[in-house]
Amino acid sequence: MDKMLSVVLPAYNEEQMIKKTAQVVGDLLEKEQIPYELVFVNDGSKDHTWEKILELKEERAHIKGVCFSRNFGKEGAVFAGIAQAEGDCIAVMDCDLQHPPETLIKMYRLWEDGYQVIEGVKASRGRESFIHKMFAKTFYSIISDATGIDMSRASDFKLMDRQAAEEFLKLPERNVFFRALSSWVGFKTTYVEFDVQEREAGESKWSFKSLVQYAVNNITSFSAAPMQIVTFFGVVFFVFAVLLGIQSLYMYFSGHAVAGFTTVILLLLLVGSILMFSLGVIGYYIAKIYDEVKMRPRYIISEVIKSKE
Ligand code: UDP
Ligand code: MG
Repeated sequence: MDKMLSVVLPAYNEEQMIKKTAQVVGDLLEKEQIPYELVFVNDGSKDHTWEKILELKEERAHIKGVCFSRNFGKEGAVFAGIAQAEGDCIAVMDCDLQHPPETLIKMYRLWEDGYQVIEGVKASRGRESFIHKMFAKTFYSIISDATGIDMSRASDFKLMDRQAAEEFLKLPERNVFFRALSSWVGFKTTYVEFDVQEREAGESKWSFKSLVQYAVNNITSFSAAPMQIVTFFGVVFFVFAVLLGIQSLYMYFSGHAVAGFTTVILLLLLVGSILMFSLGVIGYYIAKIYDEVKMRPRYIISEVIKSKE
């Protein structure tokens, strides 16, 4: 008896894609004779995504739907989908068909060969603007340094077996960065390359602002590097202070104490701005700690549905 695959599909304003995706992915899995379920998570869409999922449940077998009370973000949707999934292995893919379904089959076969975490790796980054590419590059080099895992071509397209998924679900943090945490849990891991497809309908949910937020948020959850940088500045400035102190004392004793007005102004500005910046960085971490200790749920579910077998 083949083992069941759960496919988690987070969906935010994807009314045009739900049925198409279910058809493409479902038909392919049936053709390959892989027992499956499709777990759609409606992340508080403002369009008719949920209605489409409800209709789909009447039309097809093996459909599950989870509806959030509002938009909680993709990471929450992925988490909720994995928590609802009942398969022996669980795949996560975007529901805009940018992750090729054929790769899903490859992942499943690798899982059958005994791999526990199969990471989808982007062969190319697809069509993105220059700024987007530069930004992604900087972000991933910081994250890769912090995690010790090469994240430059990482994606959210993956397959995890039950054991790895259960460990992932045990993570207590509110801010789940799925892309990195799936490798963080460990287990026997392998990689599959895939080409990011063009989005068929609808539009990307990422604005430049949300990308910056995503980056800052995840860098601070994975790394204390920004604080270390601040400490480094502190040390550099201390050395400066000692040197300037010696110079000032020398000037004082040799009777030239009034000169150096520009230096004073520049130093004041520089030190002031670095101090402010450092406070900002520290403040950010404190805000994050505050966010975590509040222990609010990652998401709120308003409805769960399942198609009749
Ligand atoms: N998504 C989500 N919640 C959000 C934003 C996005 O569940 O708040 C889903 C979206 O429906 C899609 C996937 O996450 O299935 C990837 O989003 P998108 O296609 O906008 O990102 P891109 O492919 O441009 O990186
Ligand atoms: Mg997409």
